[in-house]
Amino acid sequence: MQSAEEFSLDPQDWDAFRQLAHRMLDEAIDYVASVRQRPVWQPVPEQAKARLREPPPMEGAPLEEICDEFRTTILPYATGNIHPRFFGWVHGSGQAGNLVAETLAAAMNSNCGGRDHGAIYVEEEVIAWCRRIFGFPGEASGLLLSGTSMANLVALGVARHAADPEARKRGLCRGAEPLVAYVSAEAHESVSRAMEVLGLGSSALRKIAVRRDFTIDIEAMHAAIREDRAAGSRPFCVIGCAGTVNTGAIDDLEGLAQLCAQEKLWFHIDGAFGALAMFSDTLRPRLKGIEKADSLAFDFHKWMHVQYDAACVLVRRGDLHRAAFSMRPPYLQRLPRGLGSGEDWPSDFGPELSRSFRALKIWFAIKQHGIRRLGESIEQNCAQAHYLGERVAREPELEILAPASLNIVCFRYRREGMTEAELDRLNEEVIADVQESGVAAPSTSRIGGRLAIRANITNHRTRREDLDLLVNAVLEAARARVG
Ligand SMILES: *Cc1c(COP(=O)(O)O)cnc(C)c1O
Repeated sequence: MQSAEEFSLDPQDWDAFRQLAHRMLDEAIDYVASVRQRPVWQPVPEQAKARLREPPPMEGAPLEEICDEFRTTILPYATGNIHPRFFGWVHGSGQAGNLVAETLAAAMNSNCGGRDHGAIYVEEEVIAWCRRIFGFPGEASGLLLSGTSMANLVALGVARHAADPEARKRGLCRGAEPLVAYVSAEAHESVSRAMEVLGLGSSALRKIAVRRDFTIDIEAMHAAIREDRAAGSRPFCVIGCAGTVNTGAIDDLEGLAQLCAQEKLWFHIDGAFGALAMFSDTLRPRLKGIEKADSLAFDFHKWMHVQYDAACVLVRRGDLHRAAFSMRPPYLQRLPRGLGSGEDWPSDFGPELSRSFRALKIWFAIKQHGIRRLGESIEQNCAQAHYLGERVAREPELEILAPASLNIVCFRYRREGMTEAELDRLNEEVIADVQESGVAAPSTSRIGGRLAIRANITNHRTRREDLDLLVNAVLEAARARVG
């Protein structure tokens, strides 16, 4: 018996709730299934923005009304990354099976900071799979995180701890030899930010020149290490790139591993999307050396299309990983039995305590498709990038700035007689025109100082005809501007 004044936040009428929830699930499925028929992206109108700037309601409203508002104000203005012609940045396109996984995870509402319950074992299994796939030893640890930015931060945190175990307690000491790290000039800025957040400073990250294929110049890095040592700094970490964000370049990981062994440096790899090429038999050889890393960061939400957000860090020495982050106040005491048992909790391996059940959507995705199929989808994107490169090369008005190494093609529109600055401006306008047309969504980058139209294909819905539509849209937009 519930007393008159007691209440919960659950529906009063479960049947009505069920009907509404089923209808919304149907809408969600229709939305994904019909994505090809909609524009890739459209700007959020002022009216919708205004509706999202209201004060918080003091009184509630029926769920149905909220669904209606979602349908008109939010749903039409998605990023567009589930669309087959989304080629911007590096976004995954999501997968239908995760609609189910996410709903079930919401039903369980597990807190995955630790303790002894099913979700913890799912995360352990996902990490054990990753250990196998990337060739890490049994004592390697892992943690699921929101993205590779966080995974890089955690990995560099362990590297810092390995170099300076006292830093956790006393902070970074002034006067001590400054710790410095090395990465290619093409690396993602999240590596710099990790250095900043860890208190090491982004200027302690040496950005080493790349070779013509955009991979790190190992000789130049070796020279920088020697110079730093001579100048009284303390090199502690090298970060290799397995798939750079600009061009998809993969550093010589084997060479970097060798150098790190020789110089006794921590070897971290940022493999945000590129590391998943390990799923493919034909691409795997290009990642040789990845299994020698001390730590590896990668995303599930990019090239594996798990719904946002989902990433992983693996650390070869689990003991160091734990030592870098573990905290065990009395209220998180490990007990010999019951819900509070279990030796290692995920919260021992990173900065978060309460954590969502991210593992479930990853576990669903790997079980549903299998590693082989996921790898084939990655290969398909690489073949499509190659196709796009060839198509661009055949167009006299287009110029390749960086050919497809993996899944990214950078090119631009060019016209005789225009200066570099004019070409930069033109190509920037063309990209915005194409995005606003709703036909396709490439993004920009700079390659050798030139503004590039960057087409990244991490999209299991893309077909070759979509790439033709992209090229046609670029040509049309550019011709409309230059006449
Ligand atoms: C996307 C990306 C990152 C950042 O990952 P998030 O998941 O967005 O935090 C880091 N490095 C590379 C190479 C990337 O492509």
